[in-house]
Amino acid sequence: MKILENKVRRIVKSENYNTIFDKKTGVFVRGGKTVKDDPKCSPMPEIADIEISSGKCHNSCKFCYKQNSSEGKLHNMTFEEFKTIFHKLALTTVKVIYEDGTVKEGEYNTSFDCWDYALMKSDIQNYLNEKLTKMGFKVKNILVYNKGLLSQIAFGITSPYDNPDFFKMMEYARSFDVIPNYTINGQDMTDKVAERTANLCGACAISILSNKEKSYDAVEKLSKQFIDLNQKIRIVQTDKDYSWLTTQYWFKFKDDILSTELEGMFEGDYFDIVLKDYIEQNNLTEDETDELLGNIIKKRFKINFHIVAMEDIFDLIMQTMKDVKTDKRLKGLTAIVLLKYKPKGTNAGKFKQLSKEHYQEIFDYAEENKIGIGFDSCSAPVFMESIKNKENSESLEMLAEPCESTLFSIYINSYGETSPCSFCENEGEWTEGISVLKCHDFISDVWNNERIKNFREKLLNNDRHCPMFNLED
Ligand code: SF4
Repeated sequence: MKILENKVRRIVKSENYNTIFDKKTGVFVRGGKTVKDDPKCSPMPEIADIEISSGKCHNSCKFCYKQNSSEGKLHNMTFEEFKTIFHKLALTTVKVIYEDGTVKEGEYNTSFDCWDYALMKSDIQNYLNEKLTKMGFKVKNILVYNKGLLSQIAFGITSPYDNPDFFKMMEYARSFDVIPNYTINGQDMTDKVAERTANLCGACAISILSNKEKSYDAVEKLSKQFIDLNQKIRIVQTDKDYSWLTTQYWFKFKDDILSTELEGMFEGDYFDIVLKDYIEQNNLTEDETDELLGNIIKKRFKINFHIVAMEDIFDLIMQTMKDVKTDKRLKGLTAIVLLKYKPKGTNAGKFKQLSKEHYQEIFDYAEENKIGIGFDSCSAPVFMESIKNKENSESLEMLAEPCESTLFSIYINSYGETSPCSFCENEGEWTEGISVLKCHDFISDVWNNERIKNFREKLLNNDRHCPMFNLED
């Protein structure tokens, strides 16, 4: 397997498994032998769902499969535990290149003195450089990089305020080019949290609960902070059609570097400008400004709504879709993502899955009104069902990724234990997880552990339909 990497992209090449990953946006494309082939699984996880706080939540939502509640006991993963897990998954490697051409390479581990205080990748590089120079070595370069495939971490939180190291962890991952994202209930989003999120994350999902106004406010705050942080844009002036690549406009952000290949394509037909000045100079109307800002946000930062697709909230889903068309706070929203209701724990049997007819109605409405709509991977079978009679069903099918647990992704709870996904935890044979925190070698002890391999096989034999829950009724 070959990994080619620059500041913007990471390309993995091998005979049956190939990926391209945009480090800024988190956009990820996977192929097998050819682009059309879909590999069955990856040799290491691409995505990790890491829970860093659990037990307590102020909302006590009736459908919470975690059964977190305001009376629950909070448990936080520590920053050190997170670092240990992160480097095991990412297979972080240190390469020291000396001036005489000698190269030394080794795994990054907790025995380095800087382990306790390193807050980002450069801390490790600076520490090693200083130490080796003091010892009399002539160091030319120190590279710290990931040999693994981890590209994204979905942080599982109770709220952004419970784990004091939450943002530190996201910052740490980002410094190693692993893009963080998380889901928040949106009921208490502050400007500060919105600013840090817009600065660090590739995406943020906001749950729609009964008080949807607060969730709408959260979208507005995230959008505003993202725009404030990304005032520098590049406008491409050309009649040529670059729509296959992007829109007519190529937006250049704060610290972006256009690759030379792209710069050449634009043939110098562009200029850089501060967004506020662009709006002023072009006398954009309020509606035009909203459209421009919305497009900029959606291009680089995915803000989604998460709604649990239960029958008794069908009206709420429809209303939210109508609001997306009219409520200016939602101009930066990318999509409404429907999550399958999991009949888990004390929730089992309490709620009804959204009917197929209602899925269909939602999908048709979204398509007619050009509203972004998405589904979690547990919903892929129902999504396939609702598009099967459509003319463009083949291209739509490519948008659906059925369950990927243990195939491409891994879940780790706040105690550092893995199970195939967060819903499988404490269910069936997963009442006990496999410790990532204590494992010696992640690939052999966890990713290729017999229990994980059995689950993977079951999932593949089941055509990637959920092997744990009945999600149809
Ligand atoms: S195992 Fe089932 S519940 Fe877990 S992600 Fe897959 S489909 Fe969803």
